[in-house]
Amino acid sequence: MAIPVVGLTGGIGSGKSAAADRFAELGVPVVDTDRIAHQLTAAGGAAMDEIVQAFGAGAAAADGSLDRAAMRARVFAAPEERKRLEAILHPAIYQESARQLALADGDYALLVVPLLFESGRYLPLLARTLAVDCGEDAQIERVMRRSGLSADAVRAIMAAQVSREERRRRADDVIDNSGGMAELRLQVDAKHSYYLANLVKALL
Ligand code: ADP
Repeated sequence: MAIPVVGLTGGIGSGKSAAADRFAELGVPVVDTDRIAHQLTAAGGAAMDEIVQAFGAGAAAADGSLDRAAMRARVFAAPEERKRLEAILHPAIYQESARQLALADGDYALLVVPLLFESGRYLPLLARTLAVDCGEDAQIERVMRRSGLSADAVRAIMAAQVSREERRRRADDVIDNSGGMAELRLQVDAKHSYYLANLVKALL
């Protein structure tokens, strides 16, 4: 039986993973497209053969995983290379997400998609969309602390994503993550109660 799926999105550093972790603690099955992308491109990952065929042995590091630094430089320099890489990865990520969702068991499942509104690909799978939102200064500070990226590098990533306003407008539900972790948890708990009460399993 298919269960309803809530799509969780948000800008970089908005707190998607932190929110998803709380949903998981509450027993909600979580499928994370970023995690799937990493698994597909890890050593022995299902996308690696096709990537090496398309881009040559230099696309893989010595252990067989994607050489992220090399590929980042390559696609940065050539947009058509980025398109070729995405043409391999995006369908594979989608298929694996759909496979995991079909196996998920519970009242509803959570699908984490950073670029949910930018790509639109996942929207048909979703019963509801939920955006995690916080001020841009907090986003930048949290990402800098987490990854060591510069403020300008974080701003450049944010510039390629839809604006906060658009994300808030398009999402069915919004979580405000401008407070602390305790406040985030309380808001996830409230959304969870709402989804339990309002999302009905599709009868197939
Ligand atoms: P995303 O998945 O949206 O990129 P994360 O959930 O990884 O964002 O959060 C980015 C960083 O900020 C992480 O290190 C996380 O622990 C931290 N963080 C998230 N929410 C809060 C919060 N409310 N207060 C303090 N730190 C937070």
